[in-house]
Amino acid sequence: MASANDLFGIYVHWPFCASKCPYCDFNSHVHRGAFDEDAFVEGYRREIAHMASLSPGRLVQSIFFGGGTRR
Ligand code: SF4
Repeated sequence: MASANDLFGIYVHWPFCASKCPYCDFNSHVHRGAFDEDAFVEGYRREIAHMASLSPGRLVQSIFFGGGTRR
């Protein structure tokens, strides 16, 4: 069984928003028109694989997705 020190959380941030919330301190950008979403998804995949390789034996306890939600 994993100890509390083996558990960690992940935050996945999508930095493209339809508009910028006035209180937002995140690294987010108003997107105007199309952008290469597939390239960002592939970047996330590589980053997750890299961080997993640096975290042997540790378990993800929570995953939070944020950003990119305002209409
Ligand atoms: S949706 Fe989230 S990330 Fe985007 S501007 Fe608003 S608070 Fe910031």
